[in-house]
Amino acid sequence: MTIFTKIINKEIPADIVYEDELCLAFKDIKPQAPVHILLIPKKEISSSQEITKEDQNLMGHLMVKIPEIAKQLNLSTYRLVVNTGEDAGQTVSHIHIHILGGRKLGWPPG
Ligand code: AMP
Repeated sequence: MTIFTKIINKEIPADIVYEDELCLAFKDIKPQAPVHILLIPKKEISSSQEITKEDQNLMGHLMVKIPEIAKQLNLSTYRLVVNTGEDAGQTVSHIHIHILGGRKLGWPPG
């Protein structure tokens, strides 16, 4: 269990911008851009490397929610990031999609 499960269970607070029975989107506590949202499935999947066929509809659901959340936040341009594994910068072992926007974003990322 990670800190994100505690957020899902409302054991610790978060600034939630979207929620339904399958997923939750909330503001990153240490934003790297003016808009920085984390979109997570409520199911505990530790990283993108652990996604299985069983998760196909769930992960598709998250992807469908992204444009809705972006619209709600008035984001017309943004970047999606899924850090996978320690060397890629993953610090929380519950899969999360970063939605970053509100400024020009450099490429390539570090
Ligand atoms: P990553 O480094 O890709 O695993 O992303 C984890 C993200 O979770 C980081 O950007 C953290 O700032 C963020 N984070 C950690 N704890 C919290 C929290 N309690 N509420 C919101 N965001 C958090």
